[in-house]
Amino acid sequence: MKEVYRNHEYIRVSHFRDLVEAAGIPTMLRNEHLVHGVVEIPIPEFYPNLCVLNDEDYEAAWTIIRDALEKEREAPGEDLQCGQCGEMNPGNFAECFACQQPLSS
Ligand SMILES: [Zn+2]
Repeated sequence: MKEVYRNHEYIRVSHFRDLVEAAGIPTMLRNEHLVHGVVEIPIPEFYPNLCVLNDEDYEAAWTIIRDALEKEREAPGEDLQCGQCGEMNPGNFAECFACQQPLSS
């Protein structure tokens, strides 16, 4: 198992987990039970982090995350509020992280 991404924002780590899993790479989220939603623990050791179960998937997983991060920088967009549950989502999300409803911008 190898860590590919760590961030204090659980929503971001969770989003990248979805992207990597969608590519067929088995992953595991660590520390997700410690930080959920708005609560943030300012200690990097406890940040939620995304790991690939198989070390040989590390390169592929990191490529997916790096591409997503680059795309974010190009088009950060406005936060989108979910019409279904009212949660705020980053503007580049296609679906609400909380209820999986498609988001429209
Ligand atoms: Zn929602």
